[in-house]
Amino acid sequence: MDEITIKNLEVFCNHGVYKEENVLGQKFLVDAVLFLSTRKAGRSDALGDSVSYGDVCRLITAEMKKQNDQLLERVAERLAAKILHTFSMVKRVKITVKKPWAPVMMHLDHASVTIERGWHQVFVGVGSNMGDRQAYLAMAEKRLAQEPDVRDLRAASVIETEPYGYLDQDKFLNTVFAFETLYEPEELLHLLQEIEKEAHRERKIHWGPRTLDLDLLLFDDLVTDDPRLVLPHPELHKRLFVLEPLCELNPYGVHPLYRKRFLELKEALIQISQII
Ligand code: ATP
Ligand code: CA
Ligand code: CA
Repeated sequence: MDEITIKNLEVFCNHGVYKEENVLGQKFLVDAVLFLSTRKAGRSDALGDSVSYGDVCRLITAEMKKQNDQLLERVAERLAAKILHTFSMVKRVKITVKKPWAPVMMHLDHASVTIERGWHQVFVGVGSNMGDRQAYLAMAEKRLAQEPDVRDLRAASVIETEPYGYLDQDKFLNTVFAFETLYEPEELLHLLQEIEKEAHRERKIHWGPRTLDLDLLLFDDLVTDDPRLVLPHPELHKRLFVLEPLCELNPYGVHPLYRKRFLELKEALIQISQII
């Protein structure tokens, strides 16, 4: 990706842990690296096809002066979120907030915090086989679409499928949601579990009946092995009720572990099921 960089933008404001800092204020310096494609602007020479660094500087200055935070971490986090929400072309941003006059009673060039934040592409598997199944799916979609840190939500067609694992239960409705989010993986899992709770989800039988099940299938190309959050979802490639809607949204996407396209994984699974 291309980069637009702002270095050492000076802003006078009042962040800090000490009361004196909040009253007197001090100089802060901000670096911002915006990751985006500048290709279109490079060909058209039109500002409308890119992000104006003047606008970015004004936005940073206004956001820095809007409220007093104690920590540079918090200031950096707010700046990153503001830039990512305001300029939709920016996929990722790296922010450094420096405090050259940090009150530590020693000589130093500056103290600083650097963070990198961005929009992540995620896919969520959705299932319901209790109560008003369609309404639970619709509720989950609406709830996610309303989240400020979620954008561009798309839902695959809903399919009806036979139960998996524990067979003595009603048929499922399944689909997959694709969206972009500013949440980190654990935060997103927490949000999905909150939405399940709002749908009165109870965990009684493993793989048993449920009003709403939201599984995090893919989070960018992330691979993790923490049992609380395994990515990609460890059963993804074994489940037609996941691969079918996933292929509708992202047939040529590549499984980060098996390095195969989802379309290939789906076709392989259909072939195996025909042999058995
Ligand atoms: P399966 O995950 O095989 O579809 P399930 O959906 O019935 O089974 P749950 O009871 O919903 O399983 O979840 C059990 C635990 O799985 C959760 O507490 C969660 O922490 C963990 N988990 C691990 N990886 C994931 C993931 N990628 N998405 C959702 N939950 C996950
Ligand atoms: Ca599941
Ligand atoms: Ca689940």
